[in-house]
Amino acid sequence: MDIERLLTTSDPEVVEGLYAEARRLRDEVYGRRVFMRGLIEVSNHCKNDCLYCGIRRSAQVRRYRLDEGQVLDCCDEGYRLGFRSFVLQGGEDGWFTDEVVCRMVAAIKGRYPDCSVTLSLGERGRESFRRLREAGADRYLLRHETANREHYARLHPQEMSFDHRMQCLHELRELGYQVGCGFMVGSPYQTLDTIRQDLSFIEAFRPEMVGIGPFIPAAGTPFENERAGSVELTVRLLAVIRCLHPHVLLPATSALGTMHPRGRERAIEAGANVVMPNLSPRDTRALYAIYNNKLSTGSEAAESAADIRARLKALGYEVPLDRGDYSV
Ligand code: SAH
Repeated sequence: MDIERLLTTSDPEVVEGLYAEARRLRDEVYGRRVFMRGLIEVSNHCKNDCLYCGIRRSAQVRRYRLDEGQVLDCCDEGYRLGFRSFVLQGGEDGWFTDEVVCRMVAAIKGRYPDCSVTLSLGERGRESFRRLREAGADRYLLRHETANREHYARLHPQEMSFDHRMQCLHELRELGYQVGCGFMVGSPYQTLDTIRQDLSFIEAFRPEMVGIGPFIPAAGTPFENERAGSVELTVRLLAVIRCLHPHVLLPATSALGTMHPRGRERAIEAGANVVMPNLSPRDTRALYAIYNNKLSTGSEAAESAADIRARLKALGYEVPLDRGDYSV
């Protein structure tokens, strides 16, 4: 596969061929099915200062966190709406100790044993990952952000370590999680070369999930005046990733939906097979502002799960009431 050509060509026949092949591979493994996960943004407190992120430590934003009762309320609503998979995502917030997270996970699994729980709480120690797994967490999302060490160093403050991030991904894998990595498309200093390294990493690591979405500048960050990533390149990369790793669970991310009204649909037509509508409480959604103009109402709101289902159905996809596990 000539990846560079697939990512840069303007020949519509080549592009359509790529999307057709990605759809074929996805349909072969998963059928024409798109899985839904309910995204619960548990905290926008963060001890890290990632240069791209709107909720970085030094950003001047109102901070919030959800307690166990609020998280369970979100799950109750989600379950009623047909979600069988919940994702707890947040900044690296010291309040979310192992004890607190284990209690949350156990409470969700106790009430909804037929649901999967995914955590996306940033880097933690091996022992912490082990305890969370033991409490019932099924999956963990930790984007590697870039597989190029120098690029990583330009996106993160000095105290953050590329090696530790990679180490976390390997530990999660060893502990039996379904693991998700991923990166932003069009982040500052990204090149075709760093993208090639991201793809090689994905091919070698074979994660169960890959999350990619366009970089979108966030107000109040060092990158606030940088250019946003391209929707077109993101969609092509989704298709390339599906071709390299046909079994992967591949979300059509909110960042894509934010940048293009049909972003999500375009992703699905290019081989994606997961959507993650927002299930966070209405009054905190706007506060989890990792980038500008993040979608949190309309088709992003979980209340419109029915609408998303209808839109996907119109494209010929079924959205099953299902945990949506990785298919081996
Ligand atoms: N603290 C958790 C969750 C981070 S938010 C963690 O470290 O994994 C989830 C993802 O949003 C990040 O991994 C990053 O890739 C993405 N993100 C952050 N800021 C962004 C921005 N400005 N534009 C697009 N995506 C962004």
